[in-house]
Amino acid sequence: MSRFLDTRYLGIAPYTPGEQPQDRSYVKLNTNESPFPPSPAVIRALNADEVSRLNLYSDPTAGKLVEAIASRYTAALKEQGLSGIGERNVFVGNGSDEVLAFAFAAFCSRELGVASPAIGYGFYPVFAEFFSLPYEAVPMLPDLAVDPEGFKGIEATVVIANPNAQTGIYLPLSEIETIVSENKDRLVIVDEAYCDFGGESAVRLIARHDNLLVVSTMSKSRQLAGGRVGFAIGSEELIEDLNKMKFSFNPYNLDRLSILAGAAAMEDEDYFNLTRTAVMRERERLKKEFSSLGFSLTPSLANFILARHGGIGGRELYLALKARGVLVRWLGGELEDYVRISVGSEEQNEALLAAVRDVIKEKNL
Ligand code: PMP
Repeated sequence: MSRFLDTRYLGIAPYTPGEQPQDRSYVKLNTNESPFPPSPAVIRALNADEVSRLNLYSDPTAGKLVEAIASRYTAALKEQGLSGIGERNVFVGNGSDEVLAFAFAAFCSRELGVASPAIGYGFYPVFAEFFSLPYEAVPMLPDLAVDPEGFKGIEATVVIANPNAQTGIYLPLSEIETIVSENKDRLVIVDEAYCDFGGESAVRLIARHDNLLVVSTMSKSRQLAGGRVGFAIGSEELIEDLNKMKFSFNPYNLDRLSILAGAAAMEDEDYFNLTRTAVMRERERLKKEFSSLGFSLTPSLANFILARHGGIGGRELYLALKARGVLVRWLGGELEDYVRISVGSEEQNEALLAAVRDVIKEKNL
């Protein structure tokens, strides 16, 4: 640490991302990326012509991407007989981490701060620290589900990942709506990073509630973790506020290629459905296989499973799998006994299962 670091950051404990090893190739199931490559439409969009224009700044409104997101969500809402959203309801950022950071900065006051489930996305308390905001961790239910009662009428901006990070447990939309209705004067941020794998999006509630902001990402269900494309959907006023933050910090937050990649990924509904259903199918298969090997699992609706085995600790299992070339995530803390495993391709999952069976055999479990 230098002697110039401002004292307000002395106590900050930065977020620790999952390992991104560069040394050897692992079956990489530790950061909930998609096992599939981006849509062929994305690969076509990132051509040499576009690369040759990198001398020019990107569109600060990311118009093409915003339009693609608004059209796709409008089509999905209309299919349910609901009215659509406009481009003024959409904000885009450099990954949803950046979107969340702008939302924390804009909507969490230093007096009230922010509340989120005690088990959830590890970045929320880090953002709270970064922006000097009081942070309240709301206790979980005994089965590790989010306790909606803990959020009703709470005096803080609420942030909930749904399905929840780490556990994959989905809170029914009716519960989300009750939290939103019972906190009319506080913003509720619903982080839908994992929603495309079986949950129902809260975007349909936005027309009825001006205190709801839905945040999502193209990192999980649209194969663009490395493209860094996140977005938020909410009332025009909320989106205007987020844009105020962005234009006061980094107007060109998305680069030219990410705007094109994001738009092409959003427009390819067929590929999106093909890949997300493959992940859901494999998730259910992994749940069955792990159960039959003696593991207990949370009822995850995300692109990962959270599993524990009475006969082996989480860290030991993580290390044993790593030694066998399979990288999973051991989160420690309240989830010390568990490992979180991203759902891979069929082939990756076979390699995972072979490694798990081998560990179980070696330990006589
Ligand atoms: N929200 C949740 C719940 C996540 O798990 C993640 C991924 N780690 C993010 C947001 C951030 O995703 P990204 O910045 O890649 O969009």
